[in-house]
Amino acid sequence: MVLRKPIITVLGHVDHGKTTLLDSIRGTSVTAKEPGAITQHIGATEISIDLVKKISGRLLAKYGFNLAIPGLLFIDTPGHEAFTNLRRRGGSIADLAILVVDCMQGIQPQTKEAIDILRVYKTPFIIAMNKIDLIQGWNSGSGSFSLNLANQHPKVAEALDRKTYELVGELHSLGFSTERFDRVSDFTKQISIIPCSAKTGEGIPEILLFLSGLSQKFLEGQLRTEVSGSGKGTILEVKEEKGLGKTIDVILYDGSIKLKDKIVLAGRNGIIETQVKALLEPTPLGKNAKEKFVSVSEASAATGIKISAPGLEDALAGSPVLVEADGNERETVAREIGAIRIETEIEGAIVKADTLGSLEALIKLLGEKKVPIRRANVGEVSRNDVMLAIAVSKSRPLDGVIFAFNVKVRQDAEEEAESKGIKIFSSNVVYRIIEEYAEWKSGEEKRQKEEARGNALIPFKAKVLPNCIFHNSKPAVVGVRVIAGIMKPKMAVANNGKKIGTIEQLQDKGKNLKEASAGMEVAASISGAVCGRNLNENDELYSWLSESRIERINAACDLLSDEERKLIEEIKKKMPFPTGEGER
Ligand code: GDP
Repeated sequence: MVLRKPIITVLGHVDHGKTTLLDSIRGTSVTAKEPGAITQHIGATEISIDLVKKISGRLLAKYGFNLAIPGLLFIDTPGHEAFTNLRRRGGSIADLAILVVDCMQGIQPQTKEAIDILRVYKTPFIIAMNKIDLIQGWNSGSGSFSLNLANQHPKVAEALDRKTYELVGELHSLGFSTERFDRVSDFTKQISIIPCSAKTGEGIPEILLFLSGLSQKFLEGQLRTEVSGSGKGTILEVKEEKGLGKTIDVILYDGSIKLKDKIVLAGRNGIIETQVKALLEPTPLGKNAKEKFVSVSEASAATGIKISAPGLEDALAGSPVLVEADGNERETVAREIGAIRIETEIEGAIVKADTLGSLEALIKLLGEKKVPIRRANVGEVSRNDVMLAIAVSKSRPLDGVIFAFNVKVRQDAEEEAESKGIKIFSSNVVYRIIEEYAEWKSGEEKRQKEEARGNALIPFKAKVLPNCIFHNSKPAVVGVRVIAGIMKPKMAVANNGKKIGTIEQLQDKGKNLKEASAGMEVAASISGAVCGRNLNENDELYSWLSESRIERINAACDLLSDEERKLIEEIKKKMPFPTGEGER
């Protein structure tokens, strides 16, 4: 058993500096005048541990990390999409992540999305608080942040602290405890924030040192690998290469892979079993630069390698790649893929995504929000998907929806969805899809509640005002003050436990009203009532609640406020039933 390099990904909001940070990390060997300390693999860059030790200098002794790992393997493509394709049995093969946050902008939508994804995959991370060179008065220097900090004017150092604690506060409200790396007292409880500038290189030594130190300290168990074991990897990307056809870029996280090895992976149309025709690495700088790749006979974890083999046309990004060993690999891959591509009888949503990785991330995040899923698979939204959503929406209107991440909605599907009122939540930001759905759902629920409340007909209590008998009968017209509830035309009116008539119209200063609520004084015309007989000044009037109305009110009971419920109880007591004699 040996320790392998930890696999590291960079995530964060667009333009916060992910690419520049990776470039800056890759450029450290040049700054450190240590050629060869950086090796380019397919889709990943390896930084040797000697380089980390060299550039972190005195910091290494200060933090007391005892570094035995061979180096760090950075995934070259930043962003959550690459991250989600680094999947393995529901988890991630990324051992650690760097969350890049622009110190001037703080947490932005894709930062939140990255945090959500890191949380559901339980991937530990550090925070690179980037662009500190933009803090007013910042005195830039290269290399160690800790050394440069000592050269700042106290006011500037204070400004940096303000930015840091704004970020700490924002992250706290998202449920994370964080602290500037040099003030962390317990690395198992607090996430380190490393102030840096990808542009000047400040803080890069600290980032590399902390990634190495934290991997060594907390991830040693998961970094142990049997080099001679059969290779296990995941497909980062499926790529067409001139002269090679479709190839797969694989991040190998365990064991080794050799030329002619039999491999098993998932394709769009089922499991693919094939044989490695070529293992390719990028041509090292300066060597026969005409060729993009060089062939190797073997590769060991952790590394990135391009595999050329027959039958890779419909290979799926995010799929496991297993070197055949004990013959169970086909079953293992099928089981793993089966857990992501869902087809159930549950009345739930239809989920579509562009890769297995993003599909799994979306399923996990929807699962957290308790959204039931009927079907989940990779590909465009088809008319068949919409038909299934229509069927679901018949019994569960709020669940008959479609989530489409980074995939097209076919035109016939879009037309069908529009004509049947099926909602399609489509975006290339997972976070946005889920937020839009939540917003739509709460709007729909509110509308349904209001409809149900409307059907339940809130009763009223009102008092006939003195000197306000305007017309004696057919209809009687009197001035009333609504004391509680809502008075509406067509409502039956009770006085003294007896039904006296029905409201025809409500008016205020000659204008017809749809309803009158508590506190309003209005003129009410009541057909059937006769002033002086069953309707007098200062009488207290109520809604007449027939038994069927009471049933409807009971059914909608949890939609009513405490006050409304109290009013209903009060009115019920004045009704002459429950003897079964009430008006239906
Ligand atoms: P990405 O979208 O997260 O990969 O962001 P980029 O790396 O493409 O950076 C976006 C912009 O911010 C570019 O114009 C970079 O030059 C700039 N940038 C990145 N890092 C820094 C930094 O530390 N300081 C300053 N001043 N600009 C930066």
